[in-house]
Amino acid sequence: GAEWMRKPAADREPIDLQTDRPHPARVYDYLLGGKDNFPTDRAAAEQGLQANPNSRIPPRENRNFLRRVVEYLAVEQGVRQFLDIGTGIPTSPNVHEVAQAVAPDSRIVYVDNDPIVLAHARALLTSKPEGRTEYVDADLRDVEQILSAPQLRAAIDLDRPVALMLIAIMHFVGDADRPYDVVRRLVDALPSGSYLALSHLTGDFDQAAWDRVAAIYARQGVTMQVRSHDEIARFFDGLELLDPGLPIVTKWRPDADVDPNATDTQVAVYGGVARKP
Ligand code: SAH
Repeated sequence: GAEWMRKPAADREPIDLQTDRPHPARVYDYLLGGKDNFPTDRAAAEQGLQANPNSRIPPRENRNFLRRVVEYLAVEQGVRQFLDIGTGIPTSPNVHEVAQAVAPDSRIVYVDNDPIVLAHARALLTSKPEGRTEYVDADLRDVEQILSAPQLRAAIDLDRPVALMLIAIMHFVGDADRPYDVVRRLVDALPSGSYLALSHLTGDFDQAAWDRVAAIYARQGVTMQVRSHDEIARFFDGLELLDPGLPIVTKWRPDADVDPNATDTQVAVYGGVARKP
């Protein structure tokens, strides 16, 4: 048994991969071109592609945005501590690979509540010796558990600036779970000079298509709530949104990897980075 995967004795049990049914993180992995998925996941992804033929584009452009954000924070803002909540099945390059390529002493804490992601966490714990990576198996909505986790405390100094990464996760938190409170409580725990990077699916350009995708998720018991630009901007309340604001992610400091032909309707993900004053 791998030490890093061991849970407290009370709930230590083998992870059930539930390969008989589709799983959101594996569907996302399939859409990104990954290998960590099963026939039911691929079938669900293909069903999603029928409902919205462009559904391969948002994951790719979102993932490109994630990489550009980490590069920007590490290079331009000198950030050395990252708290990445909603990590997903590891897809290279992951946050620590990007950050540690800039500064090997970077420290990254990954958080996800999904046992499937936990099963893949070994790929995230490949820190350069100068830095550190940790994985916390916790729910975003359980802010206290995340902030008090020994793995987090070991890797991150909460008296020094932290980049809080909420990339393509908040659309899985419905209004009933008070998503704005959750983000506020996390940001409140970070010192001045910290950052919030957030991306989020939107129905602004084709509500009907995303309603169909949300319906497919709902049949699998997964809440997905796309939000408008105004609703997503509210996550940054009290923070200084940095240039260029909260555009569709392909327009956020684009580089050569951005698909120049992807339309806003196809991408359907807003993203931005803000600084805590
Ligand atoms: N941030 C990655 C992966 C996004 S997929 C990227 O942008 O590429 C969304 C991830 O959020 C999934 O891995 C899912 O398990 C996780 N997630 C969804 N709701 C969560 C919650 N309440 N707490 C913790 N993780 C959650």
